[in-house]
Amino acid sequence: MIVTRDLTKTYRRVTAVRGVGLQVREGDRYGLLGPNGSGKTTLIRMLLGLVYATRGEIEVLGLPVPERVRDVLPQVGALVEGPGAYPHLSGRTNLALLDAAGPGGARRDRRRRIGEALERVGLAGIDRRPVGAYSLGMRQRLGLAAALLRRPRLLVLDEPTNGLDPRGIREIRDLLTELNAAGTTVLLSSHLLAEIEAFCTRVGVMDRGRLVLQDELAALRAPTGRVLLDTPDGDRAYALLNGRVEHRDGQRLTVRHDTPHDLNAQLVGAGVRVTGLAPEQRSLEQVVMDATTTSSDRVEGGPA
Ligand code: ATP
Repeated sequence: MIVTRDLTKTYRRVTAVRGVGLQVREGDRYGLLGPNGSGKTTLIRMLLGLVYATRGEIEVLGLPVPERVRDVLPQVGALVEGPGAYPHLSGRTNLALLDAAGPGGARRDRRRRIGEALERVGLAGIDRRPVGAYSLGMRQRLGLAAALLRRPRLLVLDEPTNGLDPRGIREIRDLLTELNAAGTTVLLSSHLLAEIEAFCTRVGVMDRGRLVLQDELAALRAPTGRVLLDTPDGDRAYALLNGRVEHRDGQRLTVRHDTPHDLNAQLVGAGVRVTGLAPEQRSLEQVVMDATTTSSDRVEGGPA
């Protein structure tokens, strides 16, 4: 769906994006994670042909960008750096203007399409108010409604939950999940780890312009080869597992062991009560910390 090779953008002194090889596959819920200033927005803007790359290649929906961006954009819904809208007009009128530039169709169909889009983002009841009086969250929703109007194959969203309260974030996440289940590929950026972890199937981590990590969330969070054991018989378990307990905290023991099942059999066989047993998984936070530490070393040690 999206492939970039060695994608780089340099402003006068700042290299905002460096050698990025992004791979977004059909059906992905891809999360681009990185702190403010790490280059997410610049990368997304290049994908949409809004900014030209200094070096590298971009393919979106199989076509080269920016060369074929006119053929690409009608199939893409985008929300980048706050939705643009006329502040004195209502949300509905703003969408109607946008839609007028789109595929067209009968007037009644267009009205229905706009009504549906407003409904889906939770703005159906307040569409008479001018957009100038909208909160940031409402503007985000309107931007999303605009992105949905095209019924896109691909949605590209830069920090889509900016300005939304927890309930709004939840609603947008549910909406995106629903669209994804119906076949829309979603690429979104966020500086919030929890948001990416809750929604995405695939994760890319940006750090100072580089894509330092890119993989399926499930693979990143693969089991560590340790098992978390909860038992009221901590001393006995400790003695029995002699040397394999790496950490002990109250009733919880971290045991070096691949298969909880075998471990359980061993413990129960020896009369140790087991109240909980699960393979330990790395949190996304741990994965990101490891990846960005490595990369800072490289950035500091490597060429500018
Ligand atoms: P944020 O979430 O704050 O938007 P980001 O990860 O999206 O952060 P970018 O906005 O892409 O990061 O910025 C990456 C770097 O490029 C920053 O150092 C920024 O100052 C710089 N930059 C971005 N746009 C320009 C520009 N038009 N001119 C000069 N420098 C720029």
